[in-house]
Amino acid sequence: MRKQVIAGNWKMNKNHREAEDFIQTAKNEVPSSDQVESVICAPFPFLQKLVEETKGTSLKIGAQNMHFEESGAFTGEVSPVMLKELGVEYVVLGHSERREIFKETDEEVNKKVHAAFKHGLTPIVCVGESLEQREANETMTVVENQVKKAFEGLTDEQSQQVIIAYEPIWAIGTGRTATAEQANEVCSHIRKAVADFVSAGVAEAVRIQYGGSVKPANVEEIVGQSDIDGALVGGASLEADSFLKLVEAGK
Ligand code: PGA
Repeated sequence: MRKQVIAGNWKMNKNHREAEDFIQTAKNEVPSSDQVESVICAPFPFLQKLVEETKGTSLKIGAQNMHFEESGAFTGEVSPVMLKELGVEYVVLGHSERREIFKETDEEVNKKVHAAFKHGLTPIVCVGESLEQREANETMTVVENQVKKAFEGLTDEQSQQVIIAYEPIWAIGTGRTATAEQANEVCSHIRKAVADFVSAGVAEAVRIQYGGSVKPANVEEIVGQSDIDGALVGGASLEADSFLKLVEAGK
């Protein structure tokens, strides 16, 4: 049985006070980590405080991006070493907003995945098609290629630890969710692809989240699908009570 991972992606939202209030409310209310993995991926300036405040609880903290280099002349960037030092455990990589707005490539995402493993961080790797690609019937090829490239050069053991987040771009922040069946169809396809290019054992174990307008009202149906092992949630993860409903559904 694969354990569900419910991860909140706050994006560039909240101030210090709001971040702290959220964590104070949520940290002792999330179910135990044997039942479901609960993660908040917060902006860099809040990470240190949030890691300190959640120590010893089942609520884990992630970053939303990082550079793949350990240090050097990369003005404005944050390294995996810095995240690890803070006690951050997860990192979202290759989110479609990073791919689209900041022009991140599959090659960079792959380097970041390797860097995450080198420094003991669990990568949540986002893949997903645009509306145009879906309408041109390219969804499966696009998503499969993104996963393949992100996994290039990983050992089987590392591959098994990647959390894949399937997020159709047209469903992100639009209120337009893929139907649970549509989402599951793509997640099953990803799992089959992983079986082909890694191994059947890894495919069986790897966790695949769905993301894109997940909310308390639709989360159960989504995470109830055979090949969906959790959710990556933006908007509906900003309020503690809403996030807590999402993690309940992952139990
Ligand atoms: P959303 O965002 O839940 O607001 O659609 C999901 C994401 O971008 O990870």
